[in-house]
Amino acid sequence: MIPVRKVDTRTNLLGLTESQLRNFFAEIGEKPFRARQVLQWIHQRNAATFEEMTDLSKALRSQLDSVASITLPGVISEQTSADGTVKWLFESGAGQAVETVFIPEPGRGTLCISSQVGCALDCSFCATGAQGFNRNLDVAEIIGQVAHANRNLAARANGQPAVSNVVFMGMGEPLANYRNVIPTLEILLSDFGYGLSRRRITVSTSGIVPQLEKLGDDCNVSLAVSLHAPDDALRDVLVPINRVHPIATLLDACWRYAAKRANRFITFEYVMLRDVNDSLQHADKLATLLTGRPAKINLIPFNPFTGNDYARSRTRTIEQFQGRLRQRGLVATTRRTRGDDIDAACGQLAGKVRDRVRVRLREKGRKPATR
Ligand code: SAH
Ligand code: SF4
Repeated sequence: MIPVRKVDTRTNLLGLTESQLRNFFAEIGEKPFRARQVLQWIHQRNAATFEEMTDLSKALRSQLDSVASITLPGVISEQTSADGTVKWLFESGAGQAVETVFIPEPGRGTLCISSQVGCALDCSFCATGAQGFNRNLDVAEIIGQVAHANRNLAARANGQPAVSNVVFMGMGEPLANYRNVIPTLEILLSDFGYGLSRRRITVSTSGIVPQLEKLGDDCNVSLAVSLHAPDDALRDVLVPINRVHPIATLLDACWRYAAKRANRFITFEYVMLRDVNDSLQHADKLATLLTGRPAKINLIPFNPFTGNDYARSRTRTIEQFQGRLRQRGLVATTRRTRGDDIDAACGQLAGKVRDRVRVRLREKGRKPATR
């Protein structure tokens, strides 16, 4: 006999924005201000049950119990690195999983969250891309990563919310899941949700230009762009979406994004791949693209993963590359690799994904010959 799976038909309030919660309460005949109370209970006071919400009447609490839930994503595992980085693997249905990483630093705690199960964009140096795409995470599954981290880490941070910054640099391309990322940003920014400023939230994108333009109008949080190459021939191979939205178009959109808020810098991420994109000529070309613009460059030493034959640039090469950018007047930093002993570093997040759809923009060979 086929086992019958119990389906939870209650509304999961974890993924609802203030306006959606207002509608929800209107539908059950309650006042709109309940929306703010419940947002605070869930996202600021870490409530796990309606029973805890003592400023709601007993009758309302028991009504909520029958029609609604606060369901966080299930945790498969938690690992802590020698440097204090924490990585969680979250259940995302059908035997799949996504990863979230918490990076503690003096005075702040950054949570790196996932937005999709896998990724269709197939960048040639990325472990998530290598797994292909399965599906978009919904709002509850994305904001649930933040809710889980704060609940779990609160004790360690003496009751202060542990997460002070959120970066969309985990698995997936956030702008390919725009529909769910925008409400998530709304909850992160809301004074009744996480109350984070735009400065403390960074969306990282490989450059889906139409959605990038839209984000500038809809939300204008901090933006990081995965550039990784200073010309189209190389970027076409490393970041295949470049064939659809080439560098010039992408950078135009970036400068428009930056202009929407004065003094807003865009971070350009540049993965350092040995003998692929790390010569001084590459640095010069990159400087020519970005000099005089509201741009910062963050060099990311490549993090290796199995099944990939790229190598990390030598430390001295990275220093020289960074030095050349600085000589040319640019702000350039090198990202410290954190949590690599638990495979929690940039681009190593793989979760468990069954590849159903993959965009095959890439050429056959994984490693381009560029010099
Ligand atoms: N899809 C988004 C965000 C997730 S990836 C994006 O591409 O921007 C976050 C960052 O890690 C991106 O800059 C990505 O290019 C980089 N990255 C991917 N694989 C990497 C690897 N193996 N080593 C170092 N950085 C990597
Ligand atoms: Fe997707 Fe970003 Fe990885 Fe590219 S680098 S495959 S866009 S997650």
